[in-house]
Amino acid sequence: MTEPRTPAGKRLEEYLRQDWVRDFRTDITAIENETAEMEAAKCDETVQALQDCGRDLVGALDALEDMANQFAYWGRGGLHTGGLSALEHAFTVLGWEEPHYVEGRECERPGCEAEYTTGTPTPEGYLKLCSHHYFKLRGGR
Ligand SMILES: [Zn+2]
Repeated sequence: MTEPRTPAGKRLEEYLRQDWVRDFRTDITAIENETAEMEAAKCDETVQALQDCGRDLVGALDALEDMANQFAYWGRGGLHTGGLSALEHAFTVLGWEEPHYVEGRECERPGCEAEYTTGTPTPEGYLKLCSHHYFKLRGGR
């Protein structure tokens, strides 16, 4: 450490050598360390709270999606709100366009956009069919 060249620098160094200043510095360092530990603990708590909140949000969105899938109307190859405000709100929150296409819910007869209502063995294998095509398969008109 170089010696201070100016009178003010010498006075400052003298001042800093006093016992109470050294003790004060030690106290300040201890407080800083304690504060850092408290901040780290608070940060961990905050991260945990955010993760819990995120898990709750994902669960709520999953439940909303289940409800929209169950109660939205099927037509023209997708789910519709039918103008019901609760479903419109759900579609908005889920970011769904209307109609909302859902893989695997269509009748498996080519060109049919109706929702399947039943699964049944057919000469072509097991198919998911709308009520119209199921009825036709069973000999109805
Ligand atoms: Zn069909």
